[in-house]
Formats: sequence, C-alpha cells, structure tokens
Amino acid sequence: MLDIALKLLEEITSCGFQAYIVGGFVRDYILGIESNDIDINTNATPKEIKDIFDSCLPNEDYGSVTVFKKGVRFEITTFRKEMSYLDNRRPSQIEYIDDLYQDLLRRDFTINTLCINKDGEIIDFLGGRSEIDNRVVKTVGDAKTRFEEDSLRILRAVRFATLLDFELDKETREAIIETRELLKNLSYYRKKEELDKIFGSSNADKGISLLLDLGLDRYLDLDNLDKVTCTSSLIGVWSILNVVDKYPFNSNERELIKNINDAFLLNNLDPMALYKYGLYVNSVAGEIKGLDIKAITESYNNLVIQSRRDLDITSDDIMKGLNKGPGSYLKDIYSDIEREVLYRRVKNEKDAIMTYIISNYKVEN
Ligand code: ATP
Ligand code: MG
Repeated sequence: MLDIALKLLEEITSCGFQAYIVGGFVRDYILGIESNDIDINTNATPKEIKDIFDSCLPNEDYGSVTVFKKGVRFEITTFRKEMSYLDNRRPSQIEYIDDLYQDLLRRDFTINTLCINKDGEIIDFLGGRSEIDNRVVKTVGDAKTRFEEDSLRILRAVRFATLLDFELDKETREAIIETRELLKNLSYYRKKEELDKIFGSSNADKGISLLLDLGLDRYLDLDNLDKVTCTSSLIGVWSILNVVDKYPFNSNERELIKNINDAFLLNNLDPMALYKYGLYVNSVAGEIKGLDIKAITESYNNLVIQSRRDLDITSDDIMKGLNKGPGSYLKDIYSDIEREVLYRRVKNEKDAIMTYIISNYKVEN
C-alpha cells in the first residue's frame, strides 16, 4: 500500500507541488497496523489536484479530493490553517516547512501529525514519533483550547486510546474533564460514529472504562454505560444502552436492538425463543446475561425446525386436509404446529402434523 501511495506522491510532486502522506496511515504504519485509506496533504488546490488525476471525486466543501488507485482510497486535502489564533508571526524563512507545519498544527493529536514524503522518509515536526513510542494521546497545542474548538476531539481521544491501547496524556485528560460538557453541542450522528468505533473495538472494555472515568457518560446521555460489562458485540452494547430514541440507528440496527432486548427477557435456551429470534439475537442476549454461548448454539442446532420452511407440510396440504380455501386461519394453524413441533409434542412428519391439524381444526358438518 505504501508503494502505491509513494507513486501517487510522485505524481503530485512532479507537477511542482508538495505532497505528503499524513495522519492515521503514518501512525498505523509505525505501529504495524493495516490501514484502509490514506490521507494526503498538499499545497495543490483541489482544482489543481483534479487536473492531475483523470478520475477523482471532489468534496469541495472540505477542500479535499478523493482518488482511488489500485483499490486504495486516497483523501487528498489542501494544506489548511484552521486556528484563527495562530498568528502570522511564525518564521517563514523556509516556505516549504512553513506550509506543512501550519497544516500539522491544526491537527488534533501529535500521533496524527507524522508525515511520509515521496522518498518514504518520515517527517516529524511535532514530536509525534516519541508519543507513538510512549503510546500517549496528546493534543497538538493547548488541550483545553483544542477541545473547545472542536468537542469531537474529546471522543477521538478516547477512540485512539481505545483502539491503539494508548494512555491519555495528563494535560489532555484534565482538559477533557474541564470541557466535557461541550459534548452536549455535538450531533448524535457524530457522537455515534465515534462510539461505534469505541464499542466495536476488541479493546472496548478500556474505552468504556475511560468514558466512565472521565465522566463522559452523562454528557453523552449514556445512562446505562456502567451496566455494560460484556462487550464482545457492538449491537449488544447499544442494546444495553437502549438509546434508540436519541441516537440515529438504521432500521436494521433498530430491529436488532428491539429483538435483543425482547430475547433478553426470555430463556435463551428455550426452543421457541431460539426459533423466533434466531441464534445470533439469542447469543447476544445470552451473552449480556453471562450465559454459556456454546449451550445456546447447541440448543439452536438441536431445534426440530429452524424456520417455517422446515415443517414437513405445506399450505396446500393443510387446505386439502381441511377441505378449505386460503384464509387467515392458516396463520393460526402454522403458529400452533410450529409450537407443537418445536416442543416435540408432534413429530415433524406430514402424517403426524396432518392428524394433529384435523383433530384440532376440522369442523364436522
Ligand atoms: P482513522 O482513519 O484510522 O480513523 P485518522 O487519524 O486517519 O484515523 P481521520 O478522521 O481519517 O483520522 O482524519 C485524518 C487526519 O485529519 C487525522 O489524522 C488528523 O490529523 C486530522 N483530523 C481529523 N479530524 C480532526 C479533528 N476533528 N481535529 C483536528 N484534526 C483532525
Ligand atoms: Mg484516516
């Protein structure tokens, strides 16, 4: 992936611009973690970048352009200065450094400020390398100011500490506590994006402890966060948190959360619970209760039927047997025979099922 990126840098720099790999990719590369996409920063404007690459997707509002090369997604962003208090007094003897440096100063954490140039050399203006080696998340500049500028950074700090298993620098940690109420102003959409990454991490326990220790749960409206003990599934965590009225979930997530909470109230080894909600939902609900997932899986695999299709009877058989046409009565009969077969009171054989139906539903004229 690095080779593809270096070639792309070459394409930009050969047109007379500066360009670097920056941020997450460099951080993860040093840590030996695979990245999905690569951020590039450059002094070329989005328009100039569009002229270099045949196919690209401009996101003009953000001053960036997306380019795909050999299946790798590159987000190319023009150098920016976002901090109004950053005066123009910085020495500008070397313009090249100055531009890049300004762009690095606006970035959130020192671990995200490392760059790689077209020759594959690491550029470290802000001491990010030693913070990666010491496994510390530390803001660029005054922590309180940086969180006041953008409260999303509070959650990004927790996210990086969780996913990378880093510690928060002391000043950064204290500033989070001082500014945490600003999380109230952040949209639930952005909060959820970060929380999904934290809860979905294999190190989610750490993230949850951090959120609790920093007292962020209150400002995130996560009243049940201290009840989340078992964290192997993201949707399981959201089910316990039960915040569907506040946070944006898609319909699939909503349905899962509802089913998990319904199944939570049932015995997850019970054939009807397993049949109705399936193995996944029962496993998540069971895991929240601390049940043995192997036992749940075994019970599921031992179900006589796992879906209606598994019944050894069709609607036609039933209608013929009862000498009746289609109607909503079929639904009731299906529910009834599903239950009888699941609890092994009626065998899953056409004759046995038919005998049961006739003796219970046949109306003699
Ligand atoms: P990952 O891609 O693994 O989520 P990342 O560090 O690449 O991590 P991105 O959201 O892709 O994060 O952002 C790219 C870079 O932009 C970051 O490394 C950081 O330098 C900068 N950045 C992103 N969000 C912010 C922010 N809210 N404040 C300041 N800088 C930011
Ligand atoms: Mg990134």
